[in-house]
Amino acid sequence: MLLKNETTYDTRTLRRFFSAGLAAMGASRFTTVYVRWQKRFRGTRGVHGRAAIDGRWLIMFLPRPMPARERARLEAKFGADHLGLAMYLKQRLLDVNALALVFEHEVAHNLGLGHAEMTEAARYCQGPTPLWAHGFLPEHFSRPEKPKPSREDARAALVAKRHAKAVTDLARWQRKLKLAQTKVRKAKLALAGYERRAAAAKAPA
Ligand SMILES: [Zn+2]
Repeated sequence: MLLKNETTYDTRTLRRFFSAGLAAMGASRFTTVYVRWQKRFRGTRGVHGRAAIDGRWLIMFLPRPMPARERARLEAKFGADHLGLAMYLKQRLLDVNALALVFEHEVAHNLGLGHAEMTEAARYCQGPTPLWAHGFLPEHFSRPEKPKPSREDARAALVAKRHAKAVTDLARWQRKLKLAQTKVRKAKLALAGYERRAAAAKAPA
């Protein structure tokens, strides 16, 4: 299988998942599977697809997951038990059952089936999760998010950065000071020389 993952879902999990599905359905191992973001919520619980009829490519459109930070912000704003928010968050979660059933639907197209030749359940992507998809959990598909540094950590990092800058600043000015002191010494020597010469010139013979 050739997998072209244009989303942030975990490529290794997607590959394992779709490979299992292709094998279970007896489809070509050389199928190209494109994984893209859905533009708006549609399809079966946010998952929809496109596929060649009797071909070897299909596209899976998946919902864009909500970053944990954004979720926390919304929950703080509306309250964690807000019904509208709960529905909105659910729309943004990857549903493994829908992913498997939509994939089977698209693979059926690859195998040459039109909608008229599918069962109602296959056509509308309804039913229990197929056996090959058991054991996959939504969290397997998401890459771990980088934790945002806490306010204290961010503050400490900023202080450390300013401290380091103060150290290099001091070293730089000390270098400049040393250089200036050398120049002053040389200028004083030169000046003393000129003043001796001038005094010698003025002195009566
Ligand atoms: Zn279809």
